Amino acid sequence: MVNEKIQEADQNLVHVYNRFPVALDHGEGVYLYDTEGKQYLDFAAGIAVCGLGYNNRELNQALKDQIEKLCHTSNLYYHEKCGQAAEALNRISGMDRVFFTNSGTEANEGALKAARKYAYTKQSGRYEFIAMEDSFHGRSFGAVSVTGHKEYRTPFEPVLPGVKFAEFNNLDSVKALVNDKTCAIMLEPLQGEGGMNLATQEFMEGVRRICDENDILMICDEVQCGMGRTGSMFAWQGFGVKPDIMTMAKAIGNGIPVGAFAMTEQVAQYSLQPGDHGATYGGNPLACTAVKTVIEIYEKEDIVGHVNRIAPYLTARLDELVNEFDCVTGRKGKGLMQGLVLSVPVGEVIQSAIENGLLVISAQGNVLRMVPPLIIEEKHVDEMTEKLRHVLSLISS
Ligand SMILES: *Cc1c(COP(=O)(O)O)cnc(C)c1O
Repeated sequence: MVNEKIQEADQNLVHVYNRFPVALDHGEGVYLYDTEGKQYLDFAAGIAVCGLGYNNRELNQALKDQIEKLCHTSNLYYHEKCGQAAEALNRISGMDRVFFTNSGTEANEGALKAARKYAYTKQSGRYEFIAMEDSFHGRSFGAVSVTGHKEYRTPFEPVLPGVKFAEFNNLDSVKALVNDKTCAIMLEPLQGEGGMNLATQEFMEGVRRICDENDILMICDEVQCGMGRTGSMFAWQGFGVKPDIMTMAKAIGNGIPVGAFAMTEQVAQYSLQPGDHGATYGGNPLACTAVKTVIEIYEKEDIVGHVNRIAPYLTARLDELVNEFDCVTGRKGKGLMQGLVLSVPVGEVIQSAIENGLLVISAQGNVLRMVPPLIIEEKHVDEMTEKLRHVLSLISS
């Protein structure tokens, strides 16, 4: 339970979040602890952010060292950590140019601007975006304009003009929207918020082909599915289909607020130039220390290899639940980004899971979403399965 003082103080906030009745205090590895000391196995990772889990000593030390030196300088001056973080991101993504933001939303805003600037420089007359139904790209005006949930856009209309929505994984529906005004096609290789929908190989290749044939840019939003979660560093790499622009956030800072968009040199030469874009905090020394250190830890500890070793185990356990319970009608997703489709209210399952010491979240389509820290071991998968089995048998009885 959450004590009254905490609940009362929370009333000072704009009420846009429906909180679960838990007040978290600290974390260690894949476990979180509330203010009363109760332990929770964490299969949410702060919404796919804490890939390395909690209280990672190496990351903590690097951040502490940087705090004692300098947290912020603005982008008017060089700072070595900024270049190092960009170098590390380009190393793992194969992109050429990075811009640091403070969030995933801002990364997507920047990507949209970068695509528009590319078309503007080339004087191609292109400005339209094709985005996907059930996508999620953020809540600012640009980002919400390409987000494929009508209820997120409608109260704020008119949003950005020139956006069309295609059906995800339906190449014909994309083709039908392409014209000589199309500037970019934007998609998540694995839709998170929208229900853990994985792109098909055919769809990814088909979108790439359409883009190549028409000088249209392909933008991949890797904010949630990136950083090892699907078994490759970025989900597009699992398809072997490289975008022209990609966006990142969530796990790249493991909890320090930082995002980024990156592009190929081919795009960069026609895209953003001095004066076109900026962010005061973007890529400050603290944020860049986080990115650089997170990537170093990923490489040293072979986090992506670990995901590939543990994911089949998770898949097998989840499939057991699908077979065992009538109210679990399917499994979706890939790697350590998976979901169970339920026929009972997902909110009730989440609530009961919390009472039983397990944190899980939801996604569209009554999906129970699991995005645990990437450092989970088989024993944690077993513990999750046991807790969920208990919860599901309570709810289905
Ligand atoms: C979370 C998310 C965003 C928004 O990121 P914020 O950091 O919340 O602004 C954008 N795209 C995807 C795919 C996401 O999952």
